[in-house]
This record gives sequence, C-alpha cells and structure tokens, in this order.
Amino acid sequence: METRTKDKEVEDLLLCAQEARVRAYTPYSKFRVGAALLTEDGSLVPGCNVENISFGLTICAERNAIARAVGEGHRTFKAIGVVADMKDKFVTPCGACRQVIVEFSVDCEVYLGRPDGAYVKTTIDKLLPDAFTPHVANLESLTK
Ligand SMILES: [Zn+2]
Repeated sequence: METRTKDKEVEDLLLCAQEARVRAYTPYSKFRVGAALLTEDGSLVPGCNVENISFGLTICAERNAIARAVGEGHRTFKAIGVVADMKDKFVTPCGACRQVIVEFSVDCEVYLGRPDGAYVKTTIDKLLPDAFTPHVANLESLTK
C-alpha cells in the first residue's frame, strides 16, 4: 500500500471532492457542491449535491457522501473535503451536515476547498462545538 503524506492526502481528498462537484445535479440553484470523505482505512468516498423539484428533498454533497460511505461499510472518517464555488469564499457544511458528520466522527478534519485549488482546514469540533453525539467522551465534556 502506498504511504501518502498528509499534503498528498489532502490534495487527493479535495481532488475527489472537486470531481464529485462536476457530477452534482443542480438544475434549480446551479450551485454545485462536491464532498469527499477520507475513511479510517484510507478510502476516498465522493458525494455531490442532488436537488429535487420538491426542494425539501434536496440532499447536500456531504450527507450524500456519508450515506454512500456507510453503505459501503465505513463508519469512521478522518477527514471530509468540501468544494464549492463562491469566488473568494470557502463554503462550510450546513447545520444538518455538521450534525451528520459528528454522528460518526467527533474529531473529523474538515477541508474547505475552492475550484482554484485553495483550501482552508478546520475541524467538525470547531464548526459544531459541544455537539449532541452518541460518543460518551463528548457527552462527558458537556458536564465539566
Ligand atoms: Zn448540508
């Protein structure tokens, strides 16, 4: 198995998200988002947003990737990459996606990328502090 450096891992993660973004189904908003998960075993799992004429049924790229990953047997994610095009801004996961990410990985790294290759790193803990999760350790921190 190839040993990847951290930089190469992030580069591959964001490339996977970028490629998923191209496949997004967004006839209404035209706002394409791609996501990719880096699983515990080093696999990359992509997802893209999929809209629906019944707008409430639209699913975000992040949750789409997580549903796919869980369906493939993955339950722990080291990182998620999210790529969208908001010019000079970085797009963060919405509240619903943050809650779904933290369900599986309280220490997930989050890489926010742009089509030009620029990215910033954050964590799910920073995006959703004191989250409601099934992980005992996190619940303990709420009582301190
Ligand atoms: Zn979302």
